[in-house]
Amino acid sequence: MEELKQAILNKGVVVSNGVLKVDTFLNHQIDPILIAQMGQEFVKRFNGKEITKILTIESSGIAPAFTTALELGIPFVFARKKKSLTLSSNLLSAKVHSFTKNETNEITVSKDFILEDDKILIIDDFLANGEAALGLASLVEQANATVVGIGIVIEKSFQPGREKLEQAGYQVESLARLASLENNTVRFLEEVAT
Ligand code: 5GP
Repeated sequence: MEELKQAILNKGVVVSNGVLKVDTFLNHQIDPILIAQMGQEFVKRFNGKEITKILTIESSGIAPAFTTALELGIPFVFARKKKSLTLSSNLLSAKVHSFTKNETNEITVSKDFILEDDKILIIDDFLANGEAALGLASLVEQANATVVGIGIVIEKSFQPGREKLEQAGYQVESLARLASLENNTVRFLEEVAT
């Protein structure tokens, strides 16, 4: 997605060979126009799938999940990283190791919001080792619902996430694919014609 690539080049900060900071438009301050375009692009990429709901994880997945859900006119639900006081039973849960924080969280979502006949599109901001996406997919599968695909805003293709998700049988669509962050420089993978 060209607009996203430009934002990454113009506003992204390479923190290390493995981490990109995009706090000016996605992870802290939000660019609503760019995030709306992401929603439109995800809808195109998963065209023809009968999606009934979007699932993401707090907090940075919420904005792109929202715009995608708005485009489709369907609800989205976000998994929580910390247990809510008002949500203590009736939960689906999975353990997720965080790449950036190096800690393991139990992510949870209420059983009320993922039902057996749901066809779920998972959306997240970054794909690194695939832990968050696999944890979200596990929540869907615990509910006997179906994962129709996984939409990622920024994929770090030099890390093993995509391979793991594809091996597990999921369709992965990423709006920007990074080949490398070495030497303080963002390099994109060649776009594959779709
Ligand atoms: P994974 O679970 O695939 O290992 O990592 C994905 C999660 O870690 C995302 O939800 C995102 O919050 C965080 N993450 C991974 N890599 C990066 C990165 O380079 N920059 C930022 N801002 N977040 C990242």
